[in-house]
Amino acid sequence: MTQTTHTLFDLRQRRALITGSTQGIGLSLAYALAGAGASIVLNGRDETRVRNAAEKMIADGFTADGVAFDVTDPAAVAAGIARIEQDIGPIDILVNNAGIQRRAPLEDFPAGDWQAILDTNLSSIFYVSQAVARHMIARGSGKIINICSVQSQLGRPTIAPYTAAKGGVANLTKGMCADWAKYGIQANGLAPGYFVTEMNKALVENEEFSAWLCKRTPANRWGQLEELHGAAIFLASDASNFVNGQIIYVDGGITACV
Ligand code: NDP
Repeated sequence: MTQTTHTLFDLRQRRALITGSTQGIGLSLAYALAGAGASIVLNGRDETRVRNAAEKMIADGFTADGVAFDVTDPAAVAAGIARIEQDIGPIDILVNNAGIQRRAPLEDFPAGDWQAILDTNLSSIFYVSQAVARHMIARGSGKIINICSVQSQLGRPTIAPYTAAKGGVANLTKGMCADWAKYGIQANGLAPGYFVTEMNKALVENEEFSAWLCKRTPANRWGQLEELHGAAIFLASDASNFVNGQIIYVDGGITACV
């Protein structure tokens, strides 16, 4: 049966877990999916921050829970996902958003920081997605959205490990599609350009960088968080049921132009 435009994007009766959603892009995407009707499960490392964010969403009129766990810790991930599935309800939509950034010239990059970036931005997506996908496979449906970056495609000085991790996320997305599409799971990437968040504080405050970025971006400006919402709802909803293994760049045109 053909769905109307409205029902295609309807997320009522769906539950979404967004990792790293106490602030920034993750929290903004939680509000986007909640606005389309989804019940939300917020996540971060700190119990209090997670609970405060969930209470704020509830006060704003949405259905939200919070489960704190560190996405780099496989045992904590397994326990967190089991708790959500048993005590809150099935995860229909997973947004792998948690991420960190550290900057240094590659020749001086501390090995510990390399490991932290790979653990948080890439390995975590394997841990969380595997734990969630086992439930999705049993149910025969699920949506996975991996937060990529323009650095999934492009390099920039001082952030080579982040670039390596985000390139890995884009290819892991294709691997998820290859293994899980047959179970009714759609795994896609959402790749933001430059958005004003805590992670980018140093860049936002750097006038020289900001001027370079606006010149480099065909749209001539930083992105606003709300501008990620449409693509996220699309990838979380029935509207994208035959879209799989793709990366959608929401970047004001950066990756389309030199
Ligand atoms: P922020 O630093 O603002 O937020 C990061 C979030 O991740 C926080 O909620 C933090 O929560 C959580 N987090 C960090 N480490 C862990 C962990 N080990 N386990 C669980 N949660 C964790 O980042 P942004 O919102 O800017 O970025 C979000 C995502 O978007 C990242 O993957 C980033 O790479 C990507 N991105 C961002 C862009 C931008 O312009 N900002 C551009 C392209 C991609 P807490 O500290 O409470 O644990």
